[in-house]
Amino acid sequence: MGDGVAIYNLGSINIDHLYQVDHLPKPGETLASQGYHVGLGGKGANQSIAAALAGAQVHHIGAVGADGGWCKSRLSDAGVNTDHIATVATATGHANICVDPEGENLIILYSGANADISDAQVKDALRGSGSGDHLLLQNETTLTYEAAQMARAAGVFVIYSAAPFDASRAIAMLPVIDLLAVNEVEAEQLSAALGTAVETIEVPHLVITRGAKGAIWRDRQTGAEHQAPAFRVDPVDTTGAGDCFIGNVVAALDQGQDIDTALRRASAAAAIQVTREGTSSAMPRSDDVDDFLA
Ligand code: ATP
Repeated sequence: MGDGVAIYNLGSINIDHLYQVDHLPKPGETLASQGYHVGLGGKGANQSIAAALAGAQVHHIGAVGADGGWCKSRLSDAGVNTDHIATVATATGHANICVDPEGENLIILYSGANADISDAQVKDALRGSGSGDHLLLQNETTLTYEAAQMARAAGVFVIYSAAPFDASRAIAMLPVIDLLAVNEVEAEQLSAALGTAVETIEVPHLVITRGAKGAIWRDRQTGAEHQAPAFRVDPVDTTGAGDCFIGNVVAALDQGQDIDTALRRASAAAAIQVTREGTSSAMPRSDDVDDFLA
């Protein structure tokens, strides 16, 4: 049994390098950038920060290189426990993102240290976990299947966000998870890969997010379908909305809230997040969500 409710997040940590360009580069072209911004990203880091700011006790399991000390500091500043983030010889995972004036982008992603998380590290991190705890997983690290198996054997509730989408990986994960979270596009891709609608698969819980159209949660045990209408806001940057939503769902569940409350708080948090520029830096605090819902 765990010694208290906690979220374990085996997740990516990336350094995002954002270049504002007047057009996307062509082969052989050297292009000057009009602007440059460095930020902390990676679906794992985004979700850990979202959940910690929502008030949950979050243990991030991951890896950075020697250049990633500031990423760990950023996570711990948000309240995330970083004891299980290893520093390895490989460079920190990073994304080089070019964005043109129309918002079209070109991204080069290097998984770097995210591919160097060790089996022993995951085992060590999950050793104290148990019933009442939650494990969060996405597709930007290795060892998701092994971690899910280990956690489930200890009675931990396992949440898997199937992004970035990989059909064979998603299908392999289905037997070892409690909650599958997908966006609309991933839901279609998974349905196509399975040859059947995603709604019919046998995971205990399924969440499908649909951007400004809101989200649904199907609970297979009760047969209930919970609706989560999105709040109407004027978005300025929707990057990371899904990570904000999932981080807040798991934080609410970890704090013992029911599904409808978790969905309402997560929808409010994501509505706030899309009205702010940035990704991990745009995640709201639980007080912001309280004020928004008041
Ligand atoms: P991303 O890949 O950009 O991180 P996603 O595709 O995984 O996002 P979405 O389905 O776009 O995730 O959004 C997740 C949740 O965020 C939605 O269910 C909704 O609650 C909220 N949300 C997203 N976009 C908006 C919006 N324009 N207005 C209000 N809420 C939004």
